[in-house]
Amino acid sequence: MKFDEVKTLYDSYLFQNYGREALCIARGEREMVYDLDGKEYIDFVAGIAVNCLGHNHPAIVKAISEQAGRMIHVSNLYYTKEQAELGEALASITPVPNAVSMFCNSGAEANEAALKLAVKHTKKSRVVTCWNSFHGRTSASLSATAQPKYQEGYEPLLSKAFDYINYDDVEALKAWVTSNTAAVLLEVIQGEAGVIPASTEFIKTARDLCDEKGAMLIIDEVQTGMGRTGRWFGFEHYGIEPDIVSMAKGLGGGVPIGAIVARRDVAKTFTPGSHGTTFGGNPLACAAANAVITTMKEERLVERTDAIGSTWKAQIETMVKKHTSVKAVRGKGLMIGIEMGDKAKEFQKEAFCQGMLINVAGGKTVRLVPPLIVRMESISKLNRCLGDFLSRQ
Ligand SMILES: *Cc1c(COP(=O)(O)O)cnc(C)c1O
Repeated sequence: MKFDEVKTLYDSYLFQNYGREALCIARGEREMVYDLDGKEYIDFVAGIAVNCLGHNHPAIVKAISEQAGRMIHVSNLYYTKEQAELGEALASITPVPNAVSMFCNSGAEANEAALKLAVKHTKKSRVVTCWNSFHGRTSASLSATAQPKYQEGYEPLLSKAFDYINYDDVEALKAWVTSNTAAVLLEVIQGEAGVIPASTEFIKTARDLCDEKGAMLIIDEVQTGMGRTGRWFGFEHYGIEPDIVSMAKGLGGGVPIGAIVARRDVAKTFTPGSHGTTFGGNPLACAAANAVITTMKEERLVERTDAIGSTWKAQIETMVKKHTSVKAVRGKGLMIGIEMGDKAKEFQKEAFCQGMLINVAGGKTVRLVPPLIVRMESISKLNRCLGDFLSRQ
């Protein structure tokens, strides 16, 4: 099939709910993807922070092909070894005391589960989230997502249980976290908004206020989790322990799976029938996630991400110094944002022409979230492209 044929089928038979690049990706390997004609691109998008081990990592391919040969799906009415192993693996990497896990299929579903758990556990009703946050597109997770551009047109479905505060505003936290608050739901680095890290004071204050008022601190690690920021979870940079953590994107290395990890005493609030999903924690998805965690441990990818992420960020900072079109360089590990106003989209086009896929978050920030196995030569190629682009501004 040629690109035009694929495009015609999309136009005829699919919802037009995405603005897509004129590129049909046919296969991938490491941090590279190839179009239908075999043209190569370096993938700095990685499914938006999903393909943490790159494309077609042999460990994931082996795990899911072997699992598919044994059993693809079985109901949660039964036990599977794969789900048991994933619970144990997540407890080994998530610094939450007595961590227990429950599985679902996406980031939005993980946040839904976290919110339901917090409300049921605290018997309170209000939830504090931040302007410009992103927590998903289901009705409750979209209610948590305080961005008019995503909520517009859906208001009747959205809940009035949410109190929106400015991100990183300590005083707003103090004003809005009250004895009626069931949960404070936060990203430690806002991803969709443009890679914006919170201050330590903000996250620590949220922790203290939740303790004081009896609310659950839910950290949304859907994008920042699984080593992305140079720690297993972004909140580890802040020296706090959440009550509930939601995760998805990188967890299955590309196979859809989400999870919440919570303190055992909180998790106990969910008894048989309280919550569930047909596919959640299915053995195929769990086999993939187990392979991701095992491989990341074996290859010390969290440490590598920390090291190459800080080197790369320093290189970018040096490169952009003299250029007024760049307003800020932000992020941690392999989650780097370069804020450059309307130049961001121009640079995205330029990189595309030179065979590199990048993404723009929040309209004005180049977001770099390559696979954690990205090679330095790929990073150098992007740096050269950025240098050339800036020198022409
Ligand atoms: C992507 C994302 C979500 C939503 O995940 P889906 O799998 O698309 O539902 C939630 N929170 C954050 C921080 C995200 O980046």
